[in-house]
Amino acid sequence: MDTTRILDGKALAKTVQSRLRSQIEAALPQRNRPPGLAVIRVGDDPASAVYVRNKERACERVGIASFGQHFPATATAAEISAKIQELNDDERVDGILLQLPLPAHLDAVALLLQLDPDKDADGLHPINLGRLTRGEAGLRSCTPAGVMEVLKAYNIDPSGKNAVVVGRSILVGKPMALMLLEANATVTVAHSRTQNLADVVAAADIIVAAVGRPEMITADMVKPGAVVIDVGINRVGDGAGGYKLVGDVAFEEVFEKAAWITPVPGGIGPMTVAMLLKNTVEAYLR
Ligand code: NDP
Repeated sequence: MDTTRILDGKALAKTVQSRLRSQIEAALPQRNRPPGLAVIRVGDDPASAVYVRNKERACERVGIASFGQHFPATATAAEISAKIQELNDDERVDGILLQLPLPAHLDAVALLLQLDPDKDADGLHPINLGRLTRGEAGLRSCTPAGVMEVLKAYNIDPSGKNAVVVGRSILVGKPMALMLLEANATVTVAHSRTQNLADVVAAADIIVAAVGRPEMITADMVKPGAVVIDVGINRVGDGAGGYKLVGDVAFEEVFEKAAWITPVPGGIGPMTVAMLLKNTVEAYLR
């Protein structure tokens, strides 16, 4: 009999959102305004359009005011900078998010640096990544923070466990490794140059896959009883002319061996949005 359990990020994200709604309602009488999140989107990347719409809807559900700004793909760095400055100074705005990817002529790192670190809702400003590295309070990057929130909600304590993070991006893998380290896991970070990835992953009590390669983590790589967190979101053909979303983990077969596993969709994706809202509310309450 398999005993694997699903880590239900979608349900947990709803719980987090209702907690945030209550916090906002409690704070409103003193603050006289709701929290505000400004999303800057540049160009017409279709996936970004969907993500931004989802974020704005989630804001509406919890009572966060949205200050969206959509620039054409031809927008200059000076125009985006001016907007960032305006939002940094706008007292109605607690969180600012620069939706990535940006068109190729814009330098995302240079623009991110201009955000007020205390309004950096995505937690990607070097100051916030530095605070994470030092173990200091600060706005945490949303996807790895979402993973930690899932582990906490299901009473999975990383302390003393072997955690293997596959992927080392600044968006997911690196901050994920630091957060697991902060939670006292023994952390290994694997990447495209890692030798014998299967052996490295097989030693893990907790696996976090953040690669972007459909179903690359297979059952033979997973220790029985491991906790498997699938961050990957990959669009693949559904065999009927359409497409479906799959993670970096071969869900069906890994389900047979893991103790806990996140589904795709419905796992870490909704938690990422919930953590964006949480960062905004934290900045508002501070
Ligand atoms: P990146 O492309 O920035 O990073 C991918 C990482 O995977 C790199 O560190 C790369 O190594 C590593 N990698 C590539 N191929 C291999 C391989 N064969 N074996 C081991 N490691 C490999 O991606 P992101 O971190 O931005 O995103 C990863 C995935 O997570 C994507 O599917 C993305 O869509 C998804 N994602 C999901 C989110 C959510 O809300 N659930 C949020 C953000 C991302 P190297 O550094 O050596 O190149």
